[in-house]
Amino acid sequence: MADEHILIVLSKTETSQLLEHATLAPAGYRVTVSVDWKAAEAVLKDAPPDLIILGEKIEGQDSLDIIEKLNERFPLIPVILLPDKHSDQLAVEAFRRGFADYLQPPLRTNDVQMIVAHALERRRRWRDWVRLEARRDTKSLRQRVSGLEAIQRLGRKVTSLLDLDGVLASVVDAAVELTGAEEGSLLLLDDATGELYMRAGRNFQEDFVRTFRLPIRDTLAGQVLRTGKPLFIDEKTPQKIKTSYLVYTIIYVPLIVQERVIGVLEVDNRQSHNPFSEYHIALVSALAEYASIAIENARLYSRTEFERNKLETILTKIEEGVIVLDHDGRIVLMNRQARGAFNVGEKIIDGKRLRDVIAHQDLIDILREKQESPPSRVEITLEDGRVLNAQLTPIPEIGLVVTMQDITHLKELDRIKSDFVNTVSHDLRSPLTAILGYVELIDRVGPVNEQQNEFIRRVQISVHNITSLINDLLDLGRIEAGFDARKEIVPFAAVIQYAVDGLRGRSQEKAQEIILDVPEHLPQVLGNPVRLRQMISNLITNAIKYTPEGGKVLVNAHAEGEQIILQVTDNGPGIPPTDQPFIFDKFYRASNVPVDAPGTGLGLAIVKSIVENHQGRIWVESSLGKGTIFTVVLPITNGEL
Ligand code: ATP
Ligand code: MG
Repeated sequence: MADEHILIVLSKTETSQLLEHATLAPAGYRVTVSVDWKAAEAVLKDAPPDLIILGEKIEGQDSLDIIEKLNERFPLIPVILLPDKHSDQLAVEAFRRGFADYLQPPLRTNDVQMIVAHALERRRRWRDWVRLEARRDTKSLRQRVSGLEAIQRLGRKVTSLLDLDGVLASVVDAAVELTGAEEGSLLLLDDATGELYMRAGRNFQEDFVRTFRLPIRDTLAGQVLRTGKPLFIDEKTPQKIKTSYLVYTIIYVPLIVQERVIGVLEVDNRQSHNPFSEYHIALVSALAEYASIAIENARLYSRTEFERNKLETILTKIEEGVIVLDHDGRIVLMNRQARGAFNVGEKIIDGKRLRDVIAHQDLIDILREKQESPPSRVEITLEDGRVLNAQLTPIPEIGLVVTMQDITHLKELDRIKSDFVNTVSHDLRSPLTAILGYVELIDRVGPVNEQQNEFIRRVQISVHNITSLINDLLDLGRIEAGFDARKEIVPFAAVIQYAVDGLRGRSQEKAQEIILDVPEHLPQVLGNPVRLRQMISNLITNAIKYTPEGGKVLVNAHAEGEQIILQVTDNGPGIPPTDQPFIFDKFYRASNVPVDAPGTGLGLAIVKSIVENHQGRIWVESSLGKGTIFTVVLPITNGEL
C-alpha cells in the first residue's frame, strides 16, 4: 500500500541507497535511512515507521541480540533482517529470535517487494485485530460501568425514596435494561395463600400482572424461594418447565429480608434465545438486594409511622395537657389540651422557645432553663381561674416532659372542706375554753384526792392538745384565705434568730446542737413577721422532734440574686421517698414516724401556705438514715412597700 513508512537501519549506505531508490520508493513506500542507532531512535520516536529493515550489525552490535527488546517496545512494527551474508542457520535463528522475515542476499527487487508487502499485510491484520479486540473490551467495560452506574443510581433512590412502588418498578426496569432481557418481574410471596404474586413487572400486560399467581410447589421460583440461591436456565427451544410460561432463558434471584426469602426477582427472554451470563446473574442479584432493602425500609417506616400515629392519638385524646421541651428549652410537642390551656391555638410552634409561645409567666419561670433544682410538682393557676397540677419529669434523651391535670374541682372541694373545718374549729373553741375553766375550778370547790388530781391533769393536757390543733386549723384557714395580706418589711435574719432562740430549750432537752449560720446583713423580705417566724419554727421543731438525742440541726440562710435561700438541715431518720410528695398535705405523717410521736401532720401544711403566701417555694431533700434538708426560697424586697 502506498505511503507506508519504512525505516532502514544499515551501516552500509550503498545498500540502503539501492534498496530505497531501486526497490522501495518505486513501489510507493516512504523510506528513511539511518546508519546508526541514534538516528534510528529519533525516527522511532518522532514518526514511528510501519516496518523496519535492520542490518546484521549496527555500530558493532549484533541485531539478533536486540530484536527481542525492539519487539517488546514496538510489538506492531514488523522487523526484517538483512544479513551481510546468507546462511541457513542464521535465517532459522533470525525467525526464532523474533524477526518478521529475512532478506536473502543478493537482493532481488521482486523478492524484496514481495517480502515487504507480506510483512506489511500481516501488520495490517494484527492492527485490525487489536483494534477490534480493544473495541470489544471497551464495549463490555462500558456495559459494566453503565451497570454499576445504574446500581448506584438505584441505591440513591432506595435511600431517598419512600415510595416502594416507585423503587420496585425501577429495580425491575434496571434489571431488564442491564441484562438486555425482554421482560422482568418482581414476585412476592403471599403468606396467606402461599403463592407468588407480581408486585412489579416490565413488559407484561397489566391484566396479566394483576391476575398472575404462581404456586411455589414444583416451580423454579418456588425452588429459589426454598433454597435462597439464584438460578438460571438456558434452553435452545422455549421451555415451559416449571415456569408457567414459555421461555428460552430466565434468571431467578431471591429477595432476602432478615434472612428470610420473601420473593424473587426475575428476567427472561420468551421471543428469542438471548443468553445470560454469570455477570448478568451478579447484576440481578445486586438489584434484588436493593429491592429487599427498599421493602424492609418501607416495612420499618410504616411500623414507625404506625407507632408514631398511635402515640400521637393517645397524646391528643388524653385529658392531661402535655408539653415536651428539648434540652435547650425548645418545644418538641404540645398537645391539644396544653394548647387550649395556654391559648396557643393551631399555631406551628415546634422548635420555638416556650416563652415566645405562651404568656403564662409562672409556667415560664418554673421551666426557666438551667434551673438548679426544678420542682417536680407545681400548681399553676390559669387566666380563667382553672388550677392545673403540673408534673415535671426530666427524660435524659429527650429533655423535660410536663404533664398537667386539671385539679380545679379538687381545689374547690378543698376549699369547702377548709370552710367547714374553720367553722367547726371556731365553734369548738368556746366550749373548750369553758371545759378548761371548769376543770381549773374543781379543786377550789372542795378537796380532791390524788387520783382525781391525776385525772384532772390528763383532762387539761388533752384539752390543751385539742386547743393547739384547733389553733393550727384556724391559722391554716386564715393563711389560706389570705387574711394576713397585710405585709411589712421584715429583717429576715432577726426573725430566724428569734425562732431559733425560742427553740433552744427544746433542743437542749434532747442534747442536740443547733448551729445557726446566717450572715448579719441578710436582705429584708416583704411579709408578715409572725407568720414567717411560725414557718421557721415549724421547720426547726420538726428537725428537733424527729432527730434523735444528740443529733445536729443546722439553720442557714444566704442571699442569691433576688432571693433568700433558707435551709433547715438535720441528721435524723429521713423521710421515705414514697412519702416525700405528700408531707406538705394536711394531716399527712410519714410512715416511719413512731406511733407515740406527738403531732397531727399540720405543721408543714402551714409552712407551705405561709411560703406560698410570700411568693416563695419550698421543697424537701431527704435520704433515709442520713437526714433531711428543707429549702425555702423567698423573694428579696427592694425596700418599697
Ligand atoms: P405537727 O407538725 O402538726 O405537730 P407533724 O410534725 O407530724 O405534726 P408535719 O410537720 O406536717 O406534721 O410533718 C409531716 C410529716 O413529715 C411528719 O409527720 C414526719 O413524718 C415528716 N417530717 C417532717 N419533718 C421531718 C424531719 N425533719 N425529719 C423526718 N421527718 C420529718
Ligand atoms: Mg411538725
